[in-house]
Amino acid sequence: MHHDDAIPLRPWAWTPKTPADEEQPAQLRRILRLFRPYRGRLGLVGLLVAASSLVTVASPFMLREVLDTAIPQGRTGLLSLLALGMIATAVVSSVFGVLQTLISTTVGQRVMHDLRTAVYAQLQRMPLAFFTRTRTGEVQSRIANDIGGMQATVTSTATSLVSNLTSVVATVVAMLALDWRLTVVSLLLLPLFVWISRRVGRERKRITSQRQKQMASMAAMVTESLSVSGILLGRTMGRADSLTKSFAEESERLVDLEVRSNMAGRWRMSVIGVVMAAMPAVIYWAAGMALQLGGPAVSIGTLVAFVSLQQGLFRPTVSLLSTGVQMQTSVALFQRIFEYLDLPVDITEPPDPVRLSTVRGDVRFEAVDFAYDPEGAETLRGIDLTVPAGGSLAVVGPTGSGKSTLSYLVPRLYDVTGGHVRLDGVDVRDLDFDTLARAVGVVSQETYLFHASVADNLRFAKPDATDEEIEAAARTAQIHDHIASLPDGYDTLVGERGYRFSGGEKQRLAIARTILRDPPVLILDEATSALDTRTEHAVQQAIDALSAGRTTITIAHRLSTVRDADQIVVLDAGRIAERGTHEELIALDGRYAALVRRDAELAPVTAVS
Ligand code: ADP
Repeated sequence: MHHDDAIPLRPWAWTPKTPADEEQPAQLRRILRLFRPYRGRLGLVGLLVAASSLVTVASPFMLREVLDTAIPQGRTGLLSLLALGMIATAVVSSVFGVLQTLISTTVGQRVMHDLRTAVYAQLQRMPLAFFTRTRTGEVQSRIANDIGGMQATVTSTATSLVSNLTSVVATVVAMLALDWRLTVVSLLLLPLFVWISRRVGRERKRITSQRQKQMASMAAMVTESLSVSGILLGRTMGRADSLTKSFAEESERLVDLEVRSNMAGRWRMSVIGVVMAAMPAVIYWAAGMALQLGGPAVSIGTLVAFVSLQQGLFRPTVSLLSTGVQMQTSVALFQRIFEYLDLPVDITEPPDPVRLSTVRGDVRFEAVDFAYDPEGAETLRGIDLTVPAGGSLAVVGPTGSGKSTLSYLVPRLYDVTGGHVRLDGVDVRDLDFDTLARAVGVVSQETYLFHASVADNLRFAKPDATDEEIEAAARTAQIHDHIASLPDGYDTLVGERGYRFSGGEKQRLAIARTILRDPPVLILDEATSALDTRTEHAVQQAIDALSAGRTTITIAHRLSTVRDADQIVVLDAGRIAERGTHEELIALDGRYAALVRRDAELAPVTAVS
């Protein structure tokens, strides 16, 4: 079996390709597309920005009037009016600010929601092969860390972008209106700021993507090694300490990356801070010098209003520049999400799928070849099989001969690499997913139970099942009495953190689930684990009840159960070695007969009971 033993550090963990940096404009356009559905609201934000700019522009002019006219000329009426006006502009622009934050946060969160849902939906469509190839925990980490991280940056970025942009635009407009020459002097340094912040941005982006990778790798390690099977393996192999050590190493790497990511560009940014703080001195100096050298005179009111404006410019400009940095960080995170969204989905519904209203359940394999790895060796070769509707097929053969693989091809967990698997004469690849899901039921060795009540777990198979239907299915599956004996009956919580059913009980739950679905074709992957005789009997009875009247393909690990199959196939290294009924194969005295003899010697108890 290829099921994961969970632990640890598989070298072939799936690693996505990282898109090159030159693709950035395309990435940006794609990010913008995500915001398109919210253009209306974003337009409103734009309007608010413009409105608050206009309001803010009014303030320094009032200040100038206060200093140049109202105070020198002792006009108290005008003074009070101007003071009130300045307070009013503050109030109005605050209110606009709150509205902007509300709208832009909502838009940011909506976009995050769209992305989360898209990633989840995409993962639901991924072929099984993706999950066997990807490190356990990596997927969870993407959803938690990347989308989570993006949520933090995108919302705060969107919000601060908008409000800082408002402040900067408004301030610059007001400065220009006060005195364009002084404005030119103060804006001369802008290109330097832009250059510095771009460099910082690039550095941070690089470190962020490293940090996210490191976090994903750590999360994957935690999920792998701290699962029940991981702990079991670690303890019993005496590797707990060394696992802790390698975790410590991973964690240590994160320390370094976090520090570097926080410190990236701190020095360069503080240069900007110093320059900004020195600006008032420069302005006073420039105005004074201009006056001395016979240049244009600037009134004290203009000068004070200008400097106060300029100081208000400092914080929003710096945040705006670091917003650029944050945006670059977000782009890095978006890229990782886009990688997921761009993963090819190889098992897809055809554009014009065949929909069958009733499925009889005739299953055919025609010259089927299959390889897990397109370049690797074939796991199944030249399989021809016919299971008429209602018929039964048992597949036997040594471990690794391809029995489970064969069963995966019917519900399209994997697609054939050659030949056809047909259901009622239609290639399963031409069927619509719904028809296929209704037609084929799988009872596998591993029964997965959600952390929910017994009833909810059963109802997963048929959401609209009534309590009576559920109970009837449980009775048929020989598990009703056991469920009824539990303290909470059908409301008992099960799953990883709930009541633990034994292997045999879980199987019967799985059977009950399949009975509810009532599929015409049934794939049974029989348990390898030896159940005690009584449990086995109960499970067998449940299986017999389930199989009645359905096409069944049984992957048989014990020979005691295959005798009655209409057809038995012996697989060997991916090929059909023998086929026939029990009697025919015994008479043939080949592999099957040998297996039966060996089985009888190894497990006389099972054979007798
Ligand atoms: P059986 O059910 O008869 O024990 P399987 O169908 O599980 O055999 O496996 C058949 C062969 O395919 C084995 O050699 C196994 O290693 C290989 N195999 C199974 N699953 C995968 C997978 N997901 N990727 C690659 N090889 C696989």
